[in-house]
Amino acid sequence: NQLVALDYESKIEMMEVIDEESDRLNRFIGGLIELARIEAGEMHLRRRWGAVDEITSAALQRAEPITRGHHVELSIETDLPVVRVDERAVSEVVYTLVDNAAKYSPKGTSIRITAQRYDDGMIKMAVEDSGEGIAVDLRERVFDKFFRATRDGDIKTNQPSGTGMGLAIAKGIVEAHQGKIWIESGSGRKGTRVVFTLPIGDEDDDRQTEILT
Ligand code: ATP
Ligand code: MG
Repeated sequence: NQLVALDYESKIEMMEVIDEESDRLNRFIGGLIELARIEAGEMHLRRRWGAVDEITSAALQRAEPITRGHHVELSIETDLPVVRVDERAVSEVVYTLVDNAAKYSPKGTSIRITAQRYDDGMIKMAVEDSGEGIAVDLRERVFDKFFRATRDGDIKTNQPSGTGMGLAIAKGIVEAHQGKIWIESGSGRKGTRVVFTLPIGDEDDDRQTEILT
């Protein structure tokens, strides 16, 4: 039974690998659980009144390490009303879309996040990049769980890897809020714009919640 003594640097390096890989595994399992909840109709939203800019900032802060190579542009309509949503869940949606935008578009390009009022009682948010885009005939399928439009693991072409859960979870969260999510071409027909809507909510919903709890 031979033990190889590692020097200090190798130990640190190995610890870092273990740390990163357990994070990855953690996220993976977290995603599977989230999907299972959505499918079972067991996604419990904690709806509270929250500000869109705060929800967005939380997502962007979390995404900072992966967006460092991009220009992140945020444009939130002034006087946007507060919305009655599960802040953590909606922040997760924004994070997922920004993660994709950073992953599937070249460094040095822009990622634009917008939020505005939409037809009655709704707000509309979008995350847009200037990457390769998503073919029109795949724009619904990318929301299927485990579906990826990108070829995986091709080291030569340096394709980003993933599990195909991000958009499926995002869709589950948006629909649990009675919103919609879809894909458009980016402006100038280049890139991808993922758009989603959320109902603003009203005071009646608060009363509803009080009755239920
Ligand atoms: P992960 O579970 O790690 O998010 P993923 O990014 O592959 O993995 P999704 O986020 O669900 O999974 O995206 C599904 C597929 O849609 C991706 O594999 C990619 O092919 C395509 N896609 C998503 N966003 C973009 C984008 N902004 N530009 C180009 N392709 C995209
Ligand atoms: Mg993704």
